[in-house]
Amino acid sequence: MTTAVECVSCALFTLREDPKYAQLGLARCAAMKDRPGTFVSPQYPRQCRDHQPAPAAKTAARIEWLRDARSEGA
Ligand code: SF4
Repeated sequence: MTTAVECVSCALFTLREDPKYAQLGLARCAAMKDRPGTFVSPQYPRQCRDHQPAPAAKTAARIEWLRDARSEGA
């Protein structure tokens, strides 16, 4: 069985491609270029063979950004 990974810690994950969805906590995966309407959930434990570890600082910065985006207007 493959170990579960989180997209937020993947080098192919990006919150920058669609800022409107990023505000909702959804992001794009560079491995899904052929599926323009598909978004990934940052911290869902996913089985993914394409996962490529992103630098730890990058992952931490994303998690912080997502936390801030979600608490906006609370
Ligand atoms: S390659 Fe897999 S783990 Fe990485 S962002 Fe895409 S779906 Fe998530």
